[in-house]
Amino acid sequence: GQCTLVCPVGALIETPHWHDVIHTLDSHRRVSAVQVAPATRVAIGEEFGMKPGTISTGRMINALRQLGFDYVFDTNFAADLTIMEEGTELLARLKEHKNLPLFTSCCPGWINWVEIHRPDILPHLSTTKSPQQMHGALTKRGAFAKSLGAGFAEGEDEPYVVSVMPCTAKKDEAQRPGVSEDVDHVLTTRELARMIKARGIKFNALEEDGEFDNPLGESTGAAQIFGASGGVMEAVVRTAAHFIGEEDSLPMDWHQLRGVHQGIKTAEISGVGKVAICNGIAAAQRLLADESWRDEFIAIEVMACVGGCLGGGGEPKSMDPQVLQKRMQAIYQIDQNSPRRRSYENRDVQTLYATELDQPNSAKAHKLLHTHYAPRHSKRLLLMQFLDSVDRRDS
Ligand code: SF4
Repeated sequence: GQCTLVCPVGALIETPHWHDVIHTLDSHRRVSAVQVAPATRVAIGEEFGMKPGTISTGRMINALRQLGFDYVFDTNFAADLTIMEEGTELLARLKEHKNLPLFTSCCPGWINWVEIHRPDILPHLSTTKSPQQMHGALTKRGAFAKSLGAGFAEGEDEPYVVSVMPCTAKKDEAQRPGVSEDVDHVLTTRELARMIKARGIKFNALEEDGEFDNPLGESTGAAQIFGASGGVMEAVVRTAAHFIGEEDSLPMDWHQLRGVHQGIKTAEISGVGKVAICNGIAAAQRLLADESWRDEFIAIEVMACVGGCLGGGGEPKSMDPQVLQKRMQAIYQIDQNSPRRRSYENRDVQTLYATELDQPNSAKAHKLLHTHYAPRHSKRLLLMQFLDSVDRRDS
């Protein structure tokens, strides 16, 4: 096992999983699928000498195909799905006046911190799985998964699922009880770059025309902004506005919620309530220091890394003091250029509900797309208890 939790947000350990990935791809014994997080595509170019904020989506997809992945999917598909589930959950809680404010749950650094330090907040967390977990569950166990592994021998017919994340804590998330079967290996953005280099693929010379496979590849601009602090909340607000029939009166762009420098950001959603963003775990600690958050807000987004995932521990290291700002601009540029910018408009997500999941928060959706949390002791604490017991046994 890895002692991932020595770092309070579980974000310091990086093991070379890419060796395992290369071996598995080379064996060709299972159909393979990879999903790529939104913050990866605006940063991976830096590993190849490109400027921060270079959008490399098409190149990265072509590189993944050359590495041998049979299917290249987009984590953003599941981010749209997360919004459908989390937006519905928020409206239900508002109706019942229960467990408010709702806290977002897609950042495992934040979840680990709550489970260890603030179990009183557990009932407030959204039960919606993170996009990585959701995408893995759909690729492995959704109806479409059966067609993926068709033709392979029994025991090898389950797709081999890899995710590329800006985040080392996502490795820990993929090992959580109840979801550990959904993603086989998690690579960081830097590890993917290492793999590309090790295989002699000339990233800069690749065409920019790569496209994701479908289904599980389509996404909206709302999913892309998950990679920046404030993006999950903005995406929730865009779709919740549609759910309550206020799409025309509420804005699409929520500039108050954006930005990588401010610790706590807030906005009033007229007729609904006030929301807050905690940009980094230190900002969350500040917000939670007194009890006023309980009455002041209806929903709070927390991302453990400053800037959100674009500042994640698995992203390229940069000497550019503006790096977070530049990656953020690239993320909102992708959103701005998207033909659809609200998660409910994702046509493959609509099809998934029509054919497989009924509707957001249905029993079927709960089975596949939701999870639960429990208080846990830090591994350091457990280690100290263990050493203590050994000590007593020896004496
Ligand atoms: Fe990982 Fe993103 Fe959370 Fe950082 S903010 S720990 S990169 S999920």
